[in-house]
Amino acid sequence: MTSEPERCEPSERSRRSERSERQALAALCAALPRLRAMLRGPASRARRAAVEQVVLAARRGEPVGELLAGLGMDSTAPLPAGPSRTTLPTPVEEDRPAQVTGVYLCPLGTCPRAEERTASSGLPACGIHDQALRFVADR
Ligand SMILES: [Zn+2]
Repeated sequence: MTSEPERCEPSERSRRSERSERQALAALCAALPRLRAMLRGPASRARRAAVEQVVLAARRGEPVGELLAGLGMDSTAPLPAGPSRTTLPTPVEEDRPAQVTGVYLCPLGTCPRAEERTASSGLPACGIHDQALRFVADR
């Protein structure tokens, strides 16, 4: 006997898409710096413009999930980590513990992104708002 729970939430579907929307925002936020670096060349001008359109939509608080899908970016799957650019010399402070007791959050809180900074990575930034992420220390 399968008793299906009564659905008193008619907006469950829209809430689910809201969650994936937040995921899309976080993915965009995290991927933008790399994406912009990748699309720097003149050959990628059209694609770069399309990406910036998504950024503008995100800044206006409009949904970006479908726009990202249109760009071929699956927002639910983490973007593949691109080849790490070694423009900076590797830090030599290897005797220091690489522990960070805190987390970096999107500065305006528009996306649910939370980054842990490791010793090898630079300061994480939000590409949507062009701001460094806000550090919130653990207590
Ligand atoms: Zn962000």
